[in-house]
Amino acid sequence: MRYSAFSIVRQALTGNVNWKPAWRQPEPKPFYDVIIVGGGGHGLATAYYLAKEFGLKNIAVLEKGYLGSGNVGLQYHDRALQLHAAR
Ligand SMILES: Cc1cc2nc3c(=O)[nH]c(=O)nc-3n(C[C@H](O)[C@H](O)[C@H](O)COP(=O)(O)OP(=O)(O)OC[C@H]3O[C@@H](n4cnc5c(N)ncnc54)[C@H](O)[C@@H]3O)c2cc1C
Repeated sequence: MRYSAFSIVRQALTGNVNWKPAWRQPEPKPFYDVIIVGGGGHGLATAYYLAKEFGLKNIAVLEKGYLGSGNVGLQYHDRALQLHAAR
């Protein structure tokens, strides 16, 4: 998928509700070499380095929300920043 500055501005002005998903939705396979629970920074980095350094290609990352929806994404969320500041 390609993103233009125009499309990013248009999406920002219309509530960011018209983005097409940038990922596939494949059926789960019956077998994986590695299953990682959690698509946060650690889970995604683990999957990336297992593929890059060890050549594994049959890896599943199971995420209950959306990728980066945990603390790794919350760092920049307004509410999280408020909570962080209140500590
Ligand atoms: C406000 C704030 C500021 C921070 N600032 C810094 C900083 O400046 N520097 C720094 O190094 N660190 C900082 N951190 C800490 C850093 O964000 C975390 O250490 C890091 O994000 C942890 O990554 P993670 O992948 O382990 O967890 P997460 O990013 O939380 O990811 C875990 C993922 O697992 C998923 N999950 C959970 N349970 C299940 C399940 N049963 N099935 C499927 N999926 C599941 C969640 O939905 C989530 O996406 C900050 C954290 C916060 C909240």
